[in-house]
Amino acid sequence: MYDFELVKPSTLQEAVAALKDDEAQALGGGQTLLPTMKARLAMAGKMVALSGVAEIKGICTDDAGRICIGGATTHATVAREATGFPALASLAARIGDPAVRNRGTIGGSLANNDPSACYPAGALAANAVIVTPDREIAADDYFQGMFETALDEGEIITEVKFPVPEAAAYEKFIQPASRFPLVAVFVAKFSDGVRVAVTGASSDGVFRWAEAEAALSSDFSAEAVSGLSAPDAGGMISDLHGDGAYRAHLVKVMTARAVKAAH
Ligand SMILES: Cc1cc2nc3c(=O)[nH]c(=O)nc-3n(C[C@H](O)[C@H](O)[C@H](O)COP(=O)(O)OP(=O)(O)OC[C@H]3O[C@@H](n4cnc5c(N)ncnc54)[C@H](O)[C@@H]3O)c2cc1C
Repeated sequence: MYDFELVKPSTLQEAVAALKDDEAQALGGGQTLLPTMKARLAMAGKMVALSGVAEIKGICTDDAGRICIGGATTHATVAREATGFPALASLAARIGDPAVRNRGTIGGSLANNDPSACYPAGALAANAVIVTPDREIAADDYFQGMFETALDEGEIITEVKFPVPEAAAYEKFIQPASRFPLVAVFVAKFSDGVRVAVTGASSDGVFRWAEAEAALSSDFSAEAVSGLSAPDAGGMISDLHGDGAYRAHLVKVMTARAVKAAH
C-alpha cells in the first residue's frame, strides 16, 4: 500500500472541502477501495473517510413516501432498518458476509458500480434518485457502464431516494467463492408499470430488461417471463464461472423467480 493521509471530517461541509484536493478520494467502508490499495492497484494521496459524517448516515422516509438512505449508511443498517422496503432490506442482508455488511456502504457500492454489485440492480429497478451535494441524478442516467457512473471527480453520494414499489423482489444466484451475484435480478412493480434490472450478467454493467418489463407490465406473472426469449448472450459476461449463454439463461430464470417471490 502506498502512503496516504487520512482525513476524518465530521460534517458534510468539511468532507466536500477536503475532497476538492486533486489527490483526495472518498473512503466509504473500504471494502473495495482498501483491498485495491493494498494490491497497489489504486493510489490516493489523501483519503477522506465518510464514516464520521453523521448527516449522511441513516434511513428516513420523505414527504413523497420514498425511503431515503444516507450515502454512508452500511449494508447492515439497510438490512435492519429499511423495513418500509423489504426487498431492498433483503438485498442488503445478502451482500457478502457480516464483515462486509458492517463496513460497506450504499454510497460506496453505487459509486464503484461493479458490474456484479447488488445495489445497482435495486436502485435501477426502483427508479431511485442518487443525491450529491449539488444535484440529483435519476438512476436511468446514473449507471454508464462497467465501473462508470455520472459522478464527477470528487463528487460524493450523500443520499439515495427509493420510491417504494407495490411489489418487489431481488433474486440472486450467488457465485459461491465471492458471494457476489453470478446473475441477480430485481423486479419492481409500480402502479404505472414494472421495472426489471439485471446485474452480474452484462459487461456493460447493470441494465434494464425491456422485453420482460413490457410483458410483466401487462401480466405480472412468472408465466409471462417463460414466454420470452432469453436476452442476447452476445453482450453477456463470459468467464470461468459461466459463459454468456448460461448467464442469459439465468437472467430469465432469476426474473421468473423474482416475480414469484414478489407475489
Ligand atoms: C468478500 C466480499 C464480498 C462482497 N460481496 C458483495 C455482494 O455480494 N454484493 C455486492 O453488491 N457487493 C459485494 N461486495 C462489495 C461491498 O458491497 C462493498 O462494500 C462496496 O462495493 C463498496 O462499498 P464501500 O463503502 O466499502 O466503499 P469503498 O471501498 O470505501 O469505496 C469504493 C469506491 O467508492 C468511492 N466512494 C465511497 N463512498 C462514496 C460516496 N458516499 N460517494 C461517492 N463515492 C464514494 C470510493 O472513493 C471508491 O472509489 C463484497 C466485498 C467483499 C470484500
